[in-house]
Amino acid sequence: MSEVYNFSAGPAMLPAAVLERAQQELRDWHGSGMSIMEVSHRGAQFAEVAEQSVANLRALLKLPDNFSILFMQGGATTQFAAVPLNLLGPGERAAYVNTGSWSTKAIAEARRYGEVEVVADAASSNFSDIPAQQDWAACDSAAYLHYTSNETIGGVEFQSPPEVAVPLVSDMSSNFLSRPLDVSQHAVVYAGAQKNIGPAGLTVVLVRQDVLERGSRQAVPRTLDYVAMSKAGSMLNTPPTFAWYVAGLVFEWLLSEGGLTTMAKRNDAKAERLYGYIDESGFYTNPVAKHCRSRMNIPFVLADPELDSTFLAESAKQGLLNLKGHRSVGGMRASIYNAMPMAGVDELISFMQDFQKRYG
Ligand SMILES: *Cc1c(COP(=O)(O)O)cnc(C)c1O
Repeated sequence: MSEVYNFSAGPAMLPAAVLERAQQELRDWHGSGMSIMEVSHRGAQFAEVAEQSVANLRALLKLPDNFSILFMQGGATTQFAAVPLNLLGPGERAAYVNTGSWSTKAIAEARRYGEVEVVADAASSNFSDIPAQQDWAACDSAAYLHYTSNETIGGVEFQSPPEVAVPLVSDMSSNFLSRPLDVSQHAVVYAGAQKNIGPAGLTVVLVRQDVLERGSRQAVPRTLDYVAMSKAGSMLNTPPTFAWYVAGLVFEWLLSEGGLTTMAKRNDAKAERLYGYIDESGFYTNPVAKHCRSRMNIPFVLADPELDSTFLAESAKQGLLNLKGHRSVGGMRASIYNAMPMAGVDELISFMQDFQKRYG
């Protein structure tokens, strides 16, 4: 098998140890003679997978007891609707911070279900900065404030959650589990799995008890109803069992590697090295303000965009895959989630140096 580094933004690289474990267990899960994807979600085997994964995720996050973990479907995009349906009542208003493509989509979807006020908007900086919180419009009367903790396309990341007096909701799809998180500051946190958790098809949602006690604020499909899903242990209907199982293997892997503190150290080191090189290169540039650069998704452009296709062809030949930037912004993007080792970043940098020497 050829050794490659996959810089895809999502679905993204998974830890090799996780894939090998899934392969070993594929035909015969724990002596059952069956694959875990062939058994009932209500049977003893899958119950074990589900319970263990929830316990491991709780341990990883040091999750307070007043939070429920839901395993839902439909991706983060479905949560763009589920959040207002569960949290936004008639006559109420939701506050949103717009830091890029994903916030923009979350805002548009929320507007279909209620009144939304954008209290801070980074559009004027072409989404290369996050406005300081003292410059945001007041949101004291909002039903909740929603922010995107990491903009996967623009490469802009909140370094800490905003401090507000209203329930805080966050789309953490692309930086969930990349560092320790004080969940207690939030009412709801959600993340599509395919960036930093596991296979596509699964969405992890953390919901605080007071949200569940209050109940949904509008008519909501039962499969999107946080209360109904919580009561049913995320098994109101058939969950994406295989994706859930692989996510569970990732949680085990994270714990065995030292948990989220270790991940934070590794992720900081990888990002620092890549940004450091980009900034000093004089050939590659990253447009994002330093205080809010993403540690997960690092977009960069070449001094001459005419060289983009050559860069992509040559990097792919060296096993450095999926570096093409999102179609909406162009250029390049290196996504370096938990599963990307420092060796992958080092190989990318040495390719970039060599490319600059030959074409710069
Ligand atoms: C990928 C992504 C989404 C969309 O996820 P889907 O699972 O495709 O719905 C939303 N928000 C962020 C921050 C993302 O990275």
